[in-house]
Amino acid sequence: MLRVVIRASECFACGLCYVLAPNVFVEGADGKAEIDPRFRSNTPFEGEVPDDLAPDVIRGMMTCPSKAIDIAT
Ligand code: SF4
Repeated sequence: MLRVVIRASECFACGLCYVLAPNVFVEGADGKAEIDPRFRSNTPFEGEVPDDLAPDVIRGMMTCPSKAIDIAT
């Protein structure tokens, strides 16, 4: 499992991550990115994502213009 964190304060709701990696990221009410509800842990911005979705996580992370997505260890 990959622990994924979105820093909501850095997200400016561009939509790239949830358009390019919709298996992991979804659009929140304000247009900001959230973790898909299937994988959330404490908040909409933290989750445990299965290893087989690592390419999706990395795609979202690499394309985020504000570097708001991190894989935590
Ligand atoms: S790509 Fe980055 S800035 Fe854009 S919606 Fe996703 S987390 Fe927010």
